[in-house]
Amino acid sequence: MKVGVLALQGAFREHQKMLEACGVESAQIRKPEQLDGLAGLIIPGGESTTMGKLLNEFNLFEPITRLGRDGLPIFGTCAGLILLARDIAGSAQPRLGLMDMRVERNAFGRQVDSFETDLDIAAVGKPPFQAVFIRAPYILSVGSGVEVLARYGEKIVFARQGRFLAAAFHPELTGDNRIHRYFLEKCL
Ligand code: GLN
Repeated sequence: MKVGVLALQGAFREHQKMLEACGVESAQIRKPEQLDGLAGLIIPGGESTTMGKLLNEFNLFEPITRLGRDGLPIFGTCAGLILLARDIAGSAQPRLGLMDMRVERNAFGRQVDSFETDLDIAAVGKPPFQAVFIRAPYILSVGSGVEVLARYGEKIVFARQGRFLAAAFHPELTGDNRIHRYFLEKCL
């Protein structure tokens, strides 16, 4: 099984290291033809407007959207979550729009640029997951087909819609690969 990591910008190497730790082959994705034969795709954190621009320039918007609609499992973290959302509050920036959710960017305020917290995530079991948030978005609301997997206070920070997974935090920056393994189950 080979899982692609979109490698236009952002924290793609860290995701590759996680996949390696899970015993899974990974590939950096920069061209449409590199999407052939993937079992899943990860869209990393970074900067969602920049990544959107690059997705256009590299002609990746259309093939990724099509593959996602055809059932390719996709996991977006942070900026990747924003790109998966149908609706981005106050922004018309390009997005894949594959998940029925409305998100807010930089939603924890500029004064709290980044923080770590323990999240209870029943889907990956105990102990709580140490989550790293960096200029993170959160999910304001979800459609009926979207399952909420974790909240930080009232805020939705981890969700699943079928084979699409979105985390507002960075599971690739911890030593804990339970969330990657949870995604890989969807890729089998
Ligand atoms: N704030 C970034 C954005 O809006 C996301 C931050 C991240 O991916 N760590 O794209």
